[in-house]
Amino acid sequence: MTIAYIGLGSNLTEPQSQVERALGELDRLPHSRLIARSSLYRSAPVGYAAQPAFVNAVAALDTALAPQELLHQLQALEAAHQRARTFPNAPRTLDLDLLLFGDERIADAALVVPHPRMHERAFVLEPRTEIAPAAEIPGRGRAQALLEGCRGQKVERIP
Ligand code: AMP
Repeated sequence: MTIAYIGLGSNLTEPQSQVERALGELDRLPHSRLIARSSLYRSAPVGYAAQPAFVNAVAALDTALAPQELLHQLQALEAAHQRARTFPNAPRTLDLDLLLFGDERIADAALVVPHPRMHERAFVLEPRTEIAPAAEIPGRGRAQALLEGCRGQKVERIP
Protein backbone atom coordinates (compact mmCIF):
# COMPACT_ATOMS: atom_id res chain seq x y z
CA MET A 1 0.00 0.00 0.00
CA THR A 2 1.15 3.53 -0.77
CA ILE A 3 -0.08 6.86 0.51
CA ALA A 4 -1.11 9.06 -2.40
CA TYR A 5 -2.14 12.70 -2.08
CA ILE A 6 -4.90 13.99 -4.32
CA GLY A 7 -5.72 17.65 -4.96
CA LEU A 8 -9.39 18.45 -5.53
CA GLY A 9 -10.81 21.63 -7.07
CA SER A 10 -14.16 22.87 -8.37
CA ASN A 11 -15.67 26.20 -9.36
CA LEU A 12 -18.89 25.21 -11.17
CA THR A 13 -22.28 23.77 -10.19
CA GLU A 14 -22.19 23.87 -6.37
CA PRO A 15 -18.43 23.50 -5.94
CA GLN A 16 -18.56 22.59 -2.23
CA SER A 17 -20.94 19.67 -2.94
CA GLN A 18 -18.79 18.55 -5.89
CA VAL A 19 -15.71 18.36 -3.67
CA GLU A 20 -17.50 16.70 -0.74
CA ARG A 21 -19.03 14.11 -3.08
CA ALA A 22 -15.64 13.43 -4.69
CA LEU A 23 -14.06 12.82 -1.26
CA GLY A 24 -16.64 10.08 -0.64
CA GLU A 25 -15.98 8.65 -4.09
CA LEU A 26 -12.21 8.55 -3.46
CA ASP A 27 -12.88 6.45 -0.34
CA ARG A 28 -14.83 3.97 -2.49
CA LEU A 29 -12.17 3.52 -5.20
CA PRO A 30 -11.03 -0.09 -5.59
CA HIS A 31 -8.21 -1.23 -3.27
CA SER A 32 -8.11 2.21 -1.67
CA ARG A 33 -9.12 3.93 1.53
CA LEU A 34 -9.34 7.60 2.40
CA ILE A 35 -7.15 8.12 5.47
CA ALA A 36 -7.20 11.91 5.79
CA ARG A 37 -8.87 14.94 4.22
CA SER A 38 -8.37 18.64 4.68
CA SER A 39 -11.00 21.27 5.31
CA LEU A 40 -12.44 23.00 2.27
CA TYR A 41 -10.63 26.15 1.12
CA ARG A 42 -11.67 28.98 -1.17
CA SER A 43 -9.05 30.28 -3.61
CA ALA A 44 -8.83 32.90 -6.33
CA PRO A 45 -8.52 31.43 -9.86
CA VAL A 46 -5.00 31.09 -11.25
CA GLY A 47 -4.17 31.77 -14.92
CA TYR A 48 -7.60 32.84 -16.17
CA ALA A 49 -9.13 35.33 -13.73
CA ALA A 50 -12.61 35.93 -15.21
CA GLN A 51 -14.27 32.96 -13.49
CA PRO A 52 -15.70 32.09 -10.06
CA ALA A 53 -13.47 31.34 -7.07
CA PHE A 54 -12.46 27.71 -6.57
CA VAL A 55 -13.20 25.37 -3.70
CA ASN A 56 -10.16 23.18 -2.98
CA ALA A 57 -9.17 20.35 -0.68
CA VAL A 58 -6.43 17.72 -0.39
CA ALA A 59 -7.01 14.05 0.43
CA ALA A 60 -4.64 11.28 1.51
CA LEU A 61 -5.47 7.87 0.07
CA ASP A 62 -3.96 4.58 1.15
CA THR A 63 -3.99 2.58 -2.08
CA ALA A 64 -2.81 -0.67 -3.63
CA LEU A 65 -3.44 0.71 -7.15
CA ALA A 66 -0.49 1.48 -9.42
CA PRO A 67 -0.08 5.24 -10.04
CA GLN A 68 -1.29 5.03 -13.65
CA GLU A 69 -4.35 3.03 -12.55
CA LEU A 70 -5.08 5.63 -9.89
CA LEU A 71 -4.84 8.43 -12.49
CA HIS A 72 -7.37 6.54 -14.67
CA GLN A 73 -9.73 6.23 -11.72
CA LEU A 74 -9.39 9.97 -11.02
CA GLN A 75 -10.15 10.79 -14.65
CA ALA A 76 -13.23 8.54 -14.54
CA LEU A 77 -14.46 10.44 -11.47
CA GLU A 78 -13.92 13.77 -13.25
CA ALA A 79 -15.94 12.46 -16.19
CA ALA A 80 -18.72 11.29 -13.85
CA HIS A 81 -18.90 14.90 -12.58
CA GLN A 82 -19.52 16.06 -16.17
CA ARG A 83 -16.10 17.62 -16.40
CA ALA A 84 -15.67 19.20 -19.84
CA ARG A 85 -12.21 20.10 -21.18
CA THR A 86 -12.54 23.39 -23.05
CA PHE A 87 -9.34 25.43 -22.64
CA PRO A 88 -6.46 25.44 -20.12
CA ASN A 89 -7.42 26.83 -16.68
CA ALA A 90 -11.12 26.97 -17.66
CA PRO A 91 -13.86 26.70 -15.02
CA ARG A 92 -14.54 23.08 -14.06
CA THR A 93 -16.98 20.99 -12.06
CA LEU A 94 -14.18 18.80 -10.74
CA ASP A 95 -10.43 18.69 -11.12
CA LEU A 96 -8.47 15.86 -9.52
CA ASP A 97 -4.67 15.97 -9.54
CA LEU A 98 -2.40 13.18 -8.40
CA LEU A 99 -0.03 15.28 -6.30
CA LEU A 100 2.18 12.65 -4.70
CA PHE A 101 2.50 8.89 -4.79
CA GLY A 102 4.56 7.87 -1.76
CA ASP A 103 8.00 9.30 -2.42
CA GLU A 104 8.01 8.14 -6.04
CA ARG A 105 9.11 10.33 -8.89
CA ILE A 106 7.33 9.59 -12.15
CA ALA A 107 7.71 11.33 -15.48
CA ASP A 108 5.94 9.57 -18.33
CA ALA A 109 3.77 10.94 -21.12
CA ALA A 110 0.52 10.91 -19.13
CA LEU A 111 1.70 11.29 -15.55
CA VAL A 112 4.18 13.52 -13.77
CA VAL A 113 4.58 13.06 -9.98
CA PRO A 114 5.16 15.03 -7.82
CA HIS A 115 2.65 17.19 -9.69
CA PRO A 116 4.84 19.77 -11.47
CA ARG A 117 3.02 22.86 -10.14
CA MET A 118 1.97 21.80 -6.64
CA HIS A 119 4.97 23.41 -4.91
CA GLU A 120 3.99 26.89 -6.14
CA ARG A 121 0.25 26.77 -5.43
CA ALA A 122 -1.07 27.91 -2.07
CA PHE A 123 -4.43 26.17 -2.72
CA VAL A 124 -2.52 22.85 -2.66
CA LEU A 125 0.16 23.62 -0.05
CA GLU A 126 -2.23 25.07 2.53
CA PRO A 127 -4.62 22.05 2.73
CA ARG A 128 -1.71 19.62 2.39
CA THR A 129 0.02 21.27 5.36
CA GLU A 130 -3.21 20.97 7.37
CA ILE A 131 -3.25 17.15 7.06
CA ALA A 132 0.54 16.52 6.93
CA PRO A 133 2.30 19.45 8.66
CA ALA A 134 5.85 18.08 8.59
CA ALA A 135 5.73 16.45 5.17
CA GLU A 136 8.20 17.19 2.41
CA ILE A 137 7.59 17.35 -1.32
CA PRO A 138 10.30 15.17 -2.91
CA GLY A 139 12.85 17.40 -4.60
CA ARG A 140 11.22 20.62 -3.35
CA GLY A 141 11.43 20.66 0.45
CA ARG A 142 8.90 21.33 3.18
CA ALA A 143 5.41 22.47 2.19
CA GLN A 144 5.46 24.97 5.07
CA ALA A 145 8.57 26.68 3.68
CA LEU A 146 7.21 26.60 0.12
CA LEU A 147 4.07 28.34 1.35
CA GLU A 148 6.20 31.36 2.29
CA GLY A 149 6.85 31.82 -1.43
CA CYS A 150 3.08 31.92 -2.20
CA ARG A 151 2.19 34.85 0.04
CA GLY A 152 0.50 36.82 -2.74
CA GLN A 153 -2.06 34.04 -3.39
CA LYS A 154 -5.43 34.35 -1.71
CA VAL A 155 -6.59 31.15 0.00
CA GLU A 156 -9.00 30.99 2.95
CA ARG A 157 -10.33 28.09 4.96
CA ILE A 158 -14.10 27.74 4.66
CA PRO A 159 -15.48 27.58 8.21
P1 AMP B 1 -5.93 18.82 -16.35
O1 AMP B 1 -6.72 19.18 -17.58
O2 AMP B 1 -5.25 19.98 -15.70
O3 AMP B 1 -6.73 17.99 -15.38
O4 AMP B 1 -4.73 17.89 -16.84
C1 AMP B 1 -4.96 16.58 -17.21
C2 AMP B 1 -3.78 16.04 -18.01
O5 AMP B 1 -2.59 16.11 -17.24
C3 AMP B 1 -4.00 14.60 -18.41
O6 AMP B 1 -3.65 14.46 -19.75
C4 AMP B 1 -3.02 13.83 -17.52
O7 AMP B 1 -2.52 12.70 -18.18
C5 AMP B 1 -1.93 14.86 -17.27
N1 AMP B 1 -1.21 14.68 -16.01
C6 AMP B 1 0.14 14.58 -15.88
N2 AMP B 1 0.50 14.44 -14.60
C7 AMP B 1 -0.63 14.48 -13.87
C8 AMP B 1 -0.90 14.37 -12.47
N3 AMP B 1 0.10 14.23 -11.56
N4 AMP B 1 -2.20 14.45 -12.04
C9 AMP B 1 -3.20 14.61 -12.96
N5 AMP B 1 -3.01 14.71 -14.29
C10 AMP B 1 -1.74 14.63 -14.76
